[in-house]
Amino acid sequence: MARDLSSALATIRSLLDPAGFVEAAEVEERYLADVRGFLAQAPLALVRPTGTEQVSKVLAACHEHDIPVAVQGGRTGLVQGQLPRTGELLLSLERMNRIECIDADGGLATVQCGVVLQTLQEQVEAAGLMFPLDLGARGSCTIGGNISTNAGGNRVIRYGMTRELVVGLEVVLADGTVLEGLTPYLKNNTGIDLKQLFIGSEGVLGVVTRAMLRLYPQPAERAVALCAADGFAQVQRVLALCRQHLAGALTSFEVMWQMYYRRAVALADTGEPLGTDHPFYVLVEASGSAGAGVHATLERTLQLALEEGALADVAIAQSHAQAEKLWKPREISVETGRTIRPTASFDISLPIARMDEFVYELQDALRALHADCHVLVFGHLGDGNLHLVAHVPEALGRGKEEVERTTYALLQRYRGSVSAEHGIGISKRDALPCSRTPAELATMRTLKRALDPRGILNPGRIVEVD
Ligand code: ZN
Repeated sequence: MARDLSSALATIRSLLDPAGFVEAAEVEERYLADVRGFLAQAPLALVRPTGTEQVSKVLAACHEHDIPVAVQGGRTGLVQGQLPRTGELLLSLERMNRIECIDADGGLATVQCGVVLQTLQEQVEAAGLMFPLDLGARGSCTIGGNISTNAGGNRVIRYGMTRELVVGLEVVLADGTVLEGLTPYLKNNTGIDLKQLFIGSEGVLGVVTRAMLRLYPQPAERAVALCAADGFAQVQRVLALCRQHLAGALTSFEVMWQMYYRRAVALADTGEPLGTDHPFYVLVEASGSAGAGVHATLERTLQLALEEGALADVAIAQSHAQAEKLWKPREISVETGRTIRPTASFDISLPIARMDEFVYELQDALRALHADCHVLVFGHLGDGNLHLVAHVPEALGRGKEEVERTTYALLQRYRGSVSAEHGIGISKRDALPCSRTPAELATMRTLKRALDPRGILNPGRIVEVD
């Protein structure tokens, strides 16, 4: 290691407590691995600050010494944005895990960025409220990561993406400048809304350190049903009926294509409430306040769908335990995807009306690459967001690349989005031009250069900047 670099690292070490700095050789493997099995190289060192001031000082030193930094939350990202690359300092925010305030009357929570989503959900629930963001990785993912990636999840149809839940944000810029934006106002048109720059920009413009989040009343009633449909037009009809009759009570509308459902049900081992011969399975969740009759309304809506022939079969949960069981096949999507490894994974948005046609065309295009190439499809259909996991046969030479090229080329024809909720990171970077224009990409680079002139924050994620 060059003398300059080792003295810079010594400076950084001096800014932290003993547990806040870990030498390269001592960094545990868990900091370097993602859920898809990718393993990164060891970083220059690992730093684990406990507060905003430490983050600010560490970044100021990195800025001064031109040390690139990889920013890490709960490591559940799916696009390799959170893993260090060669020559980077790893900045983990896991020790910044304090819930500072839950203001039940004001409907606001103030937290440090390293708070685990599930921890916040539970604390807020204990206060009689709800933080509505929810996704499969809830037990590990952190609020800072949720904000930096503008996480979506299972309740977007009702509460929006993470962006809609952020009221105020504190951010540290690349040179250590702290932007104090923890203002508790829903309405605050005082010039450019700077926090929006950092929501969903994957840590390339600044490091989110604290957030003020929007809380909602806890629904007193929650109703969950699993439905089977024999065609895509029927699925669309059920969505229309749910929107019409459940209106704001509709919290989730998830769809699983048959091939996904069969594998997930076998893996979940929670029984087969509806048999596995239907082409589509729809998971509907509705929630509302006491006396709103959410359960009865859902039942009536689905009864209507059955009578119209839009649904072939329905199972409605009669208890919390049954609801969990019905959700299980949808929840274990990562594990289900693993059953057909090696794979290529996609997280796309496209018009709901064209999803079925897209999936058919994709299946044909992939089979043309190799007869064993097939794809599992599921996702947040109500949001226009599908997840696809394609099996890449070993026999297919440069298989993953070919499957990705084929899928994105088709998606571009449908004017879809190459990333609905997972972000771009490293692994989706080459696909980004399918969804964004050259002018948009140039504007992203302009912002990056303005806020991080030395290019030290998460370099190479989203876009390359000279
Ligand atoms: Zn998802």
